[in-house]
Amino acid sequence: KGPDPALVEIADRMATVKHKILILSGKGGVGKSTFSAQLSFALAGVDYDVGLLDIDICGPSIPKMLGLEGQEIHQSNLGWSPVYVESNLGVMSIGFMLPHPDEAVIWRGPRKDGLIKQFLKDVYWGELDYLVVDAPPGTSDEHISIAQYLKATGVDGAVIVTTPQEVSLIDVRKEISFCKKVGIPILGVVENMSGIEQTILDLRFKKVRESGEEEDVTEETLECIRKNAPDLMSLVVCSELFDSSQGGAMKMCKDMQVPFLGKVPMDPHLCKAAEEGRSCFSDTKCSASAAALQKIVNKL
Ligand code: ADP
Repeated sequence: KGPDPALVEIADRMATVKHKILILSGKGGVGKSTFSAQLSFALAGVDYDVGLLDIDICGPSIPKMLGLEGQEIHQSNLGWSPVYVESNLGVMSIGFMLPHPDEAVIWRGPRKDGLIKQFLKDVYWGELDYLVVDAPPGTSDEHISIAQYLKATGVDGAVIVTTPQEVSLIDVRKEISFCKKVGIPILGVVENMSGIEQTILDLRFKKVRESGEEEDVTEETLECIRKNAPDLMSLVVCSELFDSSQGGAMKMCKDMQVPFLGKVPMDPHLCKAAEEGRSCFSDTKCSASAAALQKIVNKL
């Protein structure tokens, strides 16, 4: 029996892609798509040719996060053309094929496998430095498919995104075990929403009077701090949002002997940039999260 013809076609198509990075998470809502989108913006921002492939068939959020909602895929004689954000950042997602963003995709495994196969063999990316693949959460049919196809054509490895809570980390351990079983190298784990960084101005903390009544810090008090201790104004305070008393992702990485890539704080400006389909790297308000993300990108 010869090799699977689809695998040969995928290998042909992927021959023009230098690096492939798979983005995984144990649970949904931890920031996996946000990370995939911002990683792609970061790589494209330094002039790499980047493709972002969204295989989250049941919950594609990549078109929105790249500002491409309502766009459609076009067919050329070379294959399906990605939708471009910039000339060096192309995106492919089932989201572009749905008649309405609220449409539910209810597909069984074989159909999902068929689409993933098609995405890998029929999309004409051209020469790419990086193909970033945003997977759905968990370890289901799509993961078995993508792992099999990417492995056959060579994959750099997977980045796993989590939040610091134990409930998320339990599923990350499963994700790590999945990667080990299917032979996908683990590039590392990112701890997202790991705390919130605020300056005194952001905090606008309340004074509690002797009576126990709360009172907002007045403009005069702030003015007094500004005058007498200006450094305090820009002092960044990082508060934890979730219980990480069990050590969070960093300890888990140590225990499971996988690289820890870094922490990204909860940042409302990053959330806004993601919702509006923008890069956080060109938004000065996102300085805390963008700096943290950049450090992680530099490690990949
Ligand atoms: P997932 O892909 O894991 O389901 P998303 O990337 O869709 O998660 O993120 C879920 C929500 O959380 C989105 O609204 C996103 O903008 C927001 N979000 C993700 N990471 C952060 C962060 N570090 N700070 C603030 N909001 C974030």
